[in-house]
Amino acid sequence: MARSLVQVKGIVQGVGFRPFVYRLAYRLNLAGFVRNTSYGVEIEIEGNAKRIKEFLKRLSLEKPVASIIELITVKQISPRREKRFVIKQSKFAEGFTQISPDIATCKDCLKEFFNPADRRFRFPFINCTNCGPRYSIIYNTPYDRKQTSMKEFKMCLDCENEFRDINNRRFHAQPDCCFVCGPEFSLYRIDGRKIKTKDPIGEAINLIKKGEIIAIKGIGGFHIACDATNCSTVKKLRVLKNRPTKPFAIMVNEKDLGKIVKVTSQEKKMIKSPVAPVMLLEKKKSEVCEEVAPNNPYLGVMLPYAPVHYLFLEKIPFLVMTSANIADEPLIKEDTEIKTKLKRKVSFYLTHNRKIINRCDDSVGFYLKERGFSIIRRSRGYVPVPIELPLSVRKTLATGPYLKNTFTLADKKNAYVSPHIGDLDNSETLKFFYEMVEKYKRWFKIEPELIVHDLHPDYLSTKIAQEMVKNKNLEIKGVQHHIAHIVSCLGENKIFEKAIGIAFDGTGYGIDGNIWGSEFFIGDLNQQKRVAHLEYLPLPGGEESIKKPYRIAIAYLYKIFGPDLIHKDFTKILNLNYPLKEIDTIIKMIDQNYNLAHTSSMGRFFDCVSAILGITREITYEAEAAINLEYVAKKGIKDYYSYEIGKNIDDEFIVHIFLILEGIINDIKRGISKNIISAKFHNTVVQFSLDIARKLRRIYGVNKVVLSGGVFQNRYLLNLMIRRFEDSDFKVFTHHKLPTNDGCISYGQVILGNGNWEIRSSK
Ligand SMILES: [Zn+2]
Ligand SMILES: [Zn+2]
Repeated sequence: MARSLVQVKGIVQGVGFRPFVYRLAYRLNLAGFVRNTSYGVEIEIEGNAKRIKEFLKRLSLEKPVASIIELITVKQISPRREKRFVIKQSKFAEGFTQISPDIATCKDCLKEFFNPADRRFRFPFINCTNCGPRYSIIYNTPYDRKQTSMKEFKMCLDCENEFRDINNRRFHAQPDCCFVCGPEFSLYRIDGRKIKTKDPIGEAINLIKKGEIIAIKGIGGFHIACDATNCSTVKKLRVLKNRPTKPFAIMVNEKDLGKIVKVTSQEKKMIKSPVAPVMLLEKKKSEVCEEVAPNNPYLGVMLPYAPVHYLFLEKIPFLVMTSANIADEPLIKEDTEIKTKLKRKVSFYLTHNRKIINRCDDSVGFYLKERGFSIIRRSRGYVPVPIELPLSVRKTLATGPYLKNTFTLADKKNAYVSPHIGDLDNSETLKFFYEMVEKYKRWFKIEPELIVHDLHPDYLSTKIAQEMVKNKNLEIKGVQHHIAHIVSCLGENKIFEKAIGIAFDGTGYGIDGNIWGSEFFIGDLNQQKRVAHLEYLPLPGGEESIKKPYRIAIAYLYKIFGPDLIHKDFTKILNLNYPLKEIDTIIKMIDQNYNLAHTSSMGRFFDCVSAILGITREITYEAEAAINLEYVAKKGIKDYYSYEIGKNIDDEFIVHIFLILEGIINDIKRGISKNIISAKFHNTVVQFSLDIARKLRRIYGVNKVVLSGGVFQNRYLLNLMIRRFEDSDFKVFTHHKLPTNDGCISYGQVILGNGNWEIRSSK
């Protein structure tokens, strides 16, 4: 006779874990109990030692599909001679509970969904203990039907019997419902007139087949949908969304996935997971229009994750499913917003009467070889599961960056990183930000004592932070953007010792007032010191140049090569056929140091080269020029350009770009293709980074390297960087729980804001 205390950490609540444990213990004839706690699930299991061993083995092997076990700890305790196994009342610190993310429709539900004999045959809201909406329908914790938007639907007797039966797979499935008692779909014209039909979904499908663009209400908000094989419709959608080139996501059934993209077994495993993210996969030539993702080697693809999606894909196998929003505003979740905001963009909308309480975008990412899923946008399927902090913190709110904002509310070792909020430059996004901060405070019972913000004095996130502490006894701290990047990556990987941090990024306000973005640091969670970066170069008119990379090209070339070349030589070779007047204006700005920022940004360096090569001269979405430069890079090229590394008066290593630009221009003169030049440029960045890292290793004796920043979404660069650094015996760490872009900033801000770990722990 033995008894073990088993603690399971991870996503184990609201996913059918307790009934699963109960059934497993019952089958193995073991006694004890299972209960939810603030940190996961706690089990005490008693009986024959061999069978306990069997229980523990099967616990991880047969766990519910939607659960993710991060850690199991087992401790021997003394037996209590119990006879039965029971599910005990939850034990929460201060009534606190975690909230499960939304979960894609599970296999068992799909079996019923496609079974004509089942009472939920083709029921578009089918769900169970293992799947369905969670986060998106919750008003308040603990997670219970009357705290969700399902409270408006009274369960019928059949559903209630399932709900109460521990042996039923819908035991305690809060959103459980059926045709008799559940929500329903209806179809409207965009002006609000209801279409009279018994089959609104079928009618919507017909409309799309006829080439219409319609809005469809899903789990976390509306999508705008159309047939991905109908090129004139896709083109029309581009005009309507005012989105000339930014790729659209496609929804496709698993069986058709291989027809449009190349997919490895690891990629397949991820895309099929309960998160059901949009994955960037290598595009194949197929019947999907080029217009869906023009000049792009990848296609953003997701599998259906709500039951209604399966009905659409039966008739339209390749469905464009792009977030319904205008410009950079948050995703639309209400019918009223659809009617006003999409008035001239779509003709119909298919909606349902289960309210979306918390909007949630689709999560996006790609598979990084041997390292797993690399997240670009962390939302549906992830939030609001906390990410563990490396050390315990005070009650903290970090307001995050300006672009791709997320905030983080944290307490002890839990960091609740918000869903993707968006760019904090319009009132709708700002409203969403405040709404979610209030909800997070209420759900997770955290009233912050410390507010952390970015150093940039003009950022809205900074002003929000200052507003929050006004007339309150709260502490406030500003932290540098790229240091937050590096510390975020250190924290996520639980690295406590000193490491080399490389932050390659677009824009971040530097400690010296310049715009940083190619910074090398030495430091730990406690302190970071800048030790290397690209030389400072002029950014005429700031924001204006970020939108028009050709201005950056002109500015950099002028700064490096002087006035003669830009007029005589370069305008011809580089095809910089812009009004001489604009070139003159930029030159004047540089000469007179007027309306000029100085930047070491790696993103801007990529923009510059992209414009010089004539790949992208003006952008229509963030980082477009750099992305297109990556996409043309030829594989298998080993060459790189010469470069020069010097030192400045602060003893920082400085990479000078003179030789790099000269090399590129000589290649252009020699008629070398853009594809080769782009590859050589990428290789050069890796080469000088490695060079600097080797110098730093010699000086500081550190061997770990962490990579963070938006530029590392560039897969050519990231893969090469990892390979070359590992070949030189560096240990390389990247993000795997948070995006490498600014979506990771608020998590890093929390750690930095909580100050000096050593001092804190010695107190
Ligand atoms: Zn299910
Ligand atoms: Zn029912």
